[in-house]
Amino acid sequence: MVTRRPNVVIVISFLLAGAIAAIAIWVLAQMRDDALRRAQDSALNVTLLVQRDVSRNLELYDLSLRAVIEGLQQPGVVSLPPAIRQMLLFDGAASAKDMGSMLVLDQAGNVRFDSQSVTPRQINVADRDYFVAHRNASNLGLYISRPYMSHQKGAGESIALSRRLSNPDGSFAGVVVGTLRLTYFRRLFAGMNLGNSGSMALLLSDGTMLMRRPYDPKIIGINLTGTPNYTRFTQQDSGDFFGTAAIDGVERWYAFRHIDGFPLLLDVAISTSDIYAGWRHRAWIIGSLIAALDLTIIALARLFSEQLKRRLEVEEALRVLARTDGLTGLNNRRTFEEHAEREWLITQRTGRSLSILLIDVDNFKGFNDLYGHSAGDDALMAVASCIDGNVRRPGDIAARYGGEEFAVLLPDTNELGAAMIAEHIRAAVQALELRHVASAHHVLTISVGIASTAIQRFAGYRAFVNAADTTLYEAKDAGRNCILCYPVAARADTPGLVTQPIR
Ligand code: GH3
Ligand code: MG
Ligand code: MG
Repeated sequence: MVTRRPNVVIVISFLLAGAIAAIAIWVLAQMRDDALRRAQDSALNVTLLVQRDVSRNLELYDLSLRAVIEGLQQPGVVSLPPAIRQMLLFDGAASAKDMGSMLVLDQAGNVRFDSQSVTPRQINVADRDYFVAHRNASNLGLYISRPYMSHQKGAGESIALSRRLSNPDGSFAGVVVGTLRLTYFRRLFAGMNLGNSGSMALLLSDGTMLMRRPYDPKIIGINLTGTPNYTRFTQQDSGDFFGTAAIDGVERWYAFRHIDGFPLLLDVAISTSDIYAGWRHRAWIIGSLIAALDLTIIALARLFSEQLKRRLEVEEALRVLARTDGLTGLNNRRTFEEHAEREWLITQRTGRSLSILLIDVDNFKGFNDLYGHSAGDDALMAVASCIDGNVRRPGDIAARYGGEEFAVLLPDTNELGAAMIAEHIRAAVQALELRHVASAHHVLTISVGIASTAIQRFAGYRAFVNAADTTLYEAKDAGRNCILCYPVAARADTPGLVTQPIR
């Protein structure tokens, strides 16, 4: 029972505190997973949004390029008056905010037609990457150039989208090219919600940086080939992973995808610290509350356990008090009777012998009268210690049986052994030499009555005790300071028994 085991209370409190902590840890782990899942969902949404916007605009732009090519193929278009030709050719040209001029270039890289002026500008772009690429290959389709600083005023960094012009025999006839300002991507990126330290980037498939948020003009155009993150981007069409940016060293969760139909790669990354910021804050609060709760439980359990321990000690002390005699410290009569009745039953079953001594102080009334009650008490204590000192075997029990009467129960002891112990006690009391002038023996003495199952069958425990009591009175009659064993009359025939008072 818990109420009898103070330490069990502590153990239970630890188990309870542990269980609460385990539940809290499990809940926090779930919350952490949820935080990551939410961040992942929002990053994926951003990639989809941006991808859709970019591919729709590039498709529109591509349609414009194709419209120019188709226009050039119409017979007679080239020979139209320049103003009408310009209107016709570039009618479908997108005129959105970030779209720059559209040019038709001949096979030498000179401008043939210009969407922004009727008389084409005198520039040659034969060294531009897109021009070189189209000249060298006929099957590039839509080509997206590396970023470059536009010649046009205020246009800033741009990319060129271009398609090849081919002669009917397939040979190179020039390029149709349009420019797109990178501010388009910058604005698009700025409109997305990425947390405080999120990043996103649009790269050419060859690893060239087109735009990144946070924006830094210095990194536009750099090539990320060989960086761990770019290497992972190239391994799948789309995917996600935890990684650290080569550019700023921040750890983030990345979602990336290649934009369908274009040599472009988009990644959206949310920083680990942003993902878990809210969770961390809540984890601190919940963790502290749980720790406080656990400490309180353990502290209360300790308090309760200590109280319980104290109560058990008090109960034990009371139990000892209830069992012992206050004056002599020997067992009291009730304890003796309980013990003796139990021993009696055991002996009945086992057939072993059981002996009892009833001891009475001789002429004690007279001693009290002569020397006072307090001296009487001291004498009783001295007698008790004589008894206690001679009843040492385990299973033996001595008790104060009444006022100046004592009893000793000796299991597994026959009348001879009992008589020997009685004699030791008697001699010890006499040896105390407590002066008693009213006694025939001049010192305080005791008389002892013995009953033993070794020489006599008794009807029951009571009869056994009464036999010892009767014998005690016979010992008194025999002159006191002596030991007699029941039945007194039979003793003459039983050699070795104490038949005469021992002095
Ligand atoms: P006997 O030899 O026949 O036993 O004579 P006795 O005087 O001892 O017999 P009695 O039974 O008449 O007297 C017992 C006395 O023991 C009476 C009582 O005052 C005294 N007594 C009993 N209990 C105590 C005690 O706790 N302290 C003291 N001082 N005396 C006690
Ligand atoms: Mg008496
Ligand atoms: Mg007496």
